[in-house]
Order: sequence, then C-alpha cells, then structure tokens
Amino acid sequence: MILIKSIPRLQKIIQKYSHKRISLVPTMGALHEGHLSLIRAARKKSDIVVVSIFVNPIQFGPKEDYKRYPRPFNKDKKLLDADILFHPDVKEMYPDGYSTYVSEERLSNTMCGLSRPGHFKGVCTVVLKLFNIVQPDIAFFGQKDYQQALIIKRMVRDLNLPIKIEIMPTVREPDGLAMSSRNKYLSQAERKKAVILYQSLLERKKPRGIKLDYFVRVDKDTLRPRKDGRLLAVAGWVGKTRLVDNVII
Ligand code: AMP
Repeated sequence: MILIKSIPRLQKIIQKYSHKRISLVPTMGALHEGHLSLIRAARKKSDIVVVSIFVNPIQFGPKEDYKRYPRPFNKDKKLLDADILFHPDVKEMYPDGYSTYVSEERLSNTMCGLSRPGHFKGVCTVVLKLFNIVQPDIAFFGQKDYQQALIIKRMVRDLNLPIKIEIMPTVREPDGLAMSSRNKYLSQAERKKAVILYQSLLERKKPRGIKLDYFVRVDKDTLRPRKDGRLLAVAGWVGKTRLVDNVII
C-alpha cells in the first residue's frame, strides 16, 4: 500500500492507472468493520482500491466535534487493505484563499440538514474534490449515512460525473448498534443505552430516554415524509454524542 499526502503526486500515479478500474472509499478514519466492509466490496469490484482518510473540517459545525474527532492514523494504516491510502493535510485540500463549494439544495434541506446546517455542503465539496483527484470508476458509501449517500448520488447525476455510486449495508455491533467512529465517545452506560436507536427503528416507535433530533418515515428517494415511505430514520444525542441510524422497510 502506498501512502500519499500530496494531491499532484496522487494525480500522477492515477494517470498511470487510466486503463484500470479504480475504486474510491472516502472515510474520516477511526476505521471499524463498517469501513472495512466497504473496502472489501471495493476490492471485489475493481483493480485499484483508493481509500482516503481525511477529517473534513468544512462539514463540521462550529460547535461540533472536529477537534476531538478520533484520529488513530497508525492503527488505521495497519487495519487497511488498499492499494493507495490518500491522507492529505487540511492545507493540501483547502489552501489559503480556498473559496469554492458545492451544494445540493433539495435532499440536503431535511433530516440531518436541519440540525447540521452546512454539513452536506461540506460533504459534497470534499467528495467532489476527491472524485476529481482520484477519478474513480466506482465509489463506495454506507447505508448508515443514508441521506449522505443519496445526496452524493444526486450530485453525481446532476453534475454528470461518470462514477458509479454503491451503497453498502450498515454493519452493526452484536446488539444491533450501527458501527460508528463516534461510538468511541460513549461511556459504558451510554453505550448500553445507544442500542435504543436501532430498537426504535425495529419497533417503529420513537426512542425514549435520549434527546431526539428526528424520527421520520420518508420516501427513500425524495426524503419527503410519507406514511407509507420505505425509509425509517432516526437521529439523537446519547449524552453529548449525536448518532444516526436507519432501516429500509
Ligand atoms: P465516516 O468515516 O464516518 O465518514 O464514514 C466513511 C464511510 O463509511 C461512509 O460512506 C459511511 O456511510 C460508511 N460507514 C460508516 N459506518 C458504517 C457502518 N456501520 N456500516 C457501513 N458503512 C458505514
């Protein structure tokens, strides 16, 4: 596996692989089995697997956890099976004077977009930059962040990017909690409690005992509320940690 921090250097290497099928798995690191399942899927469907690890500052709100987000880079590097690991610094991605952003303006205005204004604009911007740098044939995202994956699909369609987006199933802990890098923030008691998010989806009832952000049943393509919608999604704070989960029914 080659570790690359420089964008021009990665672009040069990618040029050499123009005849190969390239996949991209964008992550923020603190890797767990959810990320690894995406990387394995990428391996199966391509010749060259590129994984990015970049904690993207512009997708965090001012009061969110950008500074304390876990960054166990050396451990991540050992866990990974990729051909290329792209791990740029913030200055490499957003040099002084950076001023161009991409925003999807329909699917972003609901669910997580309401409590995290600007979040999906930050996500779309970084993902489009990664797509332009790596020029993958196929990119992998997790269903755990369903709204994000749908917005990326929309961006790819709207901006005519020649990239296939694959959405992979949510990987869960044995008790059902969706794996997430943010689960590391949970105390033992909170970790026990966190399973009520998934339970609420299975029971189709709002979770009790946590600070709820939303619990919605929506159309899985438009994210508009519908009584017979097939996406059931929940977000809430377990202690100070904001977690999301969803199921397709
Ligand atoms: P993150 O590092 O949290 O930005 O996640 C990177 C990618 O991994 C995103 O496409 C996530 O949706 C995906 N992902 C995160 N957690 C899981 C999980 N438990 N199961 C499947 N995919 C996941």
